[in-house]
Amino acid sequence: MEKRHLDLLELLVKYNTESPPARNTDPLQDEIEALLKDLGFETTRIPLYENDSVINAILKGTDSDAPKLIINGHVDVANVGDDREWQYPPFEVTQVDDYLYGRGVSDMKGGFATLLYTLEKLQEEGLRPKGDIIVQSVVGEEVGEAGTKVACEHGPKADLGLVLDTSEQMALGQGGVITGWVTVQSKTTIHDGARQQMVHAGGGLFGASAIEKMTKVIASLRELEQHWAVMKSYPDMPSGSTTINPAYIEGGRHPAFIADECKLWFTVHYLPNEHYNDVVREIEDHLNKMAEADIWLRENPLKFEWGGTSMIEDKGEIFPSFTLPKAHQGYALLEDVYKEVHGDKLPSGMSTTVTDGGWLEDFGVPTILFGPGKLTEAHSVDEKIEIKDLESFEQVLYGFLKRWYQAPVK
Ligand SMILES: [Zn+2]
Repeated sequence: MEKRHLDLLELLVKYNTESPPARNTDPLQDEIEALLKDLGFETTRIPLYENDSVINAILKGTDSDAPKLIINGHVDVANVGDDREWQYPPFEVTQVDDYLYGRGVSDMKGGFATLLYTLEKLQEEGLRPKGDIIVQSVVGEEVGEAGTKVACEHGPKADLGLVLDTSEQMALGQGGVITGWVTVQSKTTIHDGARQQMVHAGGGLFGASAIEKMTKVIASLRELEQHWAVMKSYPDMPSGSTTINPAYIEGGRHPAFIADECKLWFTVHYLPNEHYNDVVREIEDHLNKMAEADIWLRENPLKFEWGGTSMIEDKGEIFPSFTLPKAHQGYALLEDVYKEVHGDKLPSGMSTTVTDGGWLEDFGVPTILFGPGKLTEAHSVDEKIEIKDLESFEQVLYGFLKRWYQAPVK
């Protein structure tokens, strides 16, 4: 492995950008911004949270009408946990045999360092891109914070997006995730002592327990999940991927009262070719029809809250889905370069996890997830990456960018 390539990886890993707790990436973003400026990029810094910001960096092409490329990477890493479980220091790169160890080497500082190294090489060779190259250096990916969404909102659109997050050098799309809250809320608060009038013949008190009504909501979500599992499918997605997980529940106030509020927090997984707006509508329609058939829920309608921009700040997240743009000439280019480097066909499929790539597609940019590192290493104790993996990824990225610089495609 080239020394400069390793130096760049060491630079990225040495900054502790764990998330949670987050709010710690600005010092590393300062370094990356300075590096990109040295390479001729014009940079814009967009504040996200205290000490966390997003960089949009543009290397202007020689032809303003030529196709543009977005390359996206996140600099936050998963929480290390108890570092006594680590055999190697998490915020240093340690080489043992054919592997490099350190937090983020697989997810995704290895991919990011390789991008910086490749951009330097192209610069040293005096290559200027024909179309704009936009690098998004984002934060917040690990806790569902919409760093990439913000980068897209503040930056230019492009004709293709490459997300260099962990993908074992497979070209991947992904299913989407959206979290939601459904609330059952009573218009009246009833004392425990009045339950007898509320539930028995002749009692004459129209009321209900929000907790008991929530059991109907949970049963309805289960029915919808079952229906989806039977009816929905997408190539390379395991059947039944469209799950609805009732993940967290809170409700009631005290044993002296009938529960007048109950909130359920749930996670929905949907297919690459679905949009979260449609999925949300399906769930709301289904639950509202169930509620319409319930005498009390009819008078005390369900309330919904969807998504959010951070699991830390507002208990919600969205990772939009994206399909693989296999008909895009940029995909063919990646296939060609991959074949030259690896000698066989570019493997493709659907990610078993979620990345920021969906925000690019949501923004109208055809997107490919393609990065080094193994998914089993992401977030693990003693995270590692094979040196060979980084080297061959570098060859693919270099080959791809070199050709894209000269002849960007749509
Ligand atoms: Zn990642």
